[in-house]
Amino acid sequence: MTTKLNIKICPSCGSKKINMVRRNWTGSFEGKEYKIPNLEYYECPDCLEKVYDREAMRQIQAHSPAFKRASKSKPARTTRAATSMKS
Ligand SMILES: [Zn+2]
Repeated sequence: MTTKLNIKICPSCGSKKINMVRRNWTGSFEGKEYKIPNLEYYECPDCLEKVYDREAMRQIQAHSPAFKRASKSKPARTTRAATSMKS
């Protein structure tokens, strides 16, 4: 069973032309650009909306300096979940 998204209609403008593309993706964080080669995502040719599935999001997060910083500064996530389970 696959959990890949299958998007046929643009969530932004309703166009049926939206389709999967594979491109070198460039994002930016605090003025710094970072690139992801051959990222797969959906792009609408009518309104240029981009839709990322779970795998694309995972890759973006893995490359983004924003997410790298967040995971380093918050190591206490699991302990909070454990305490809330007790109550
Ligand atoms: Zn669109």
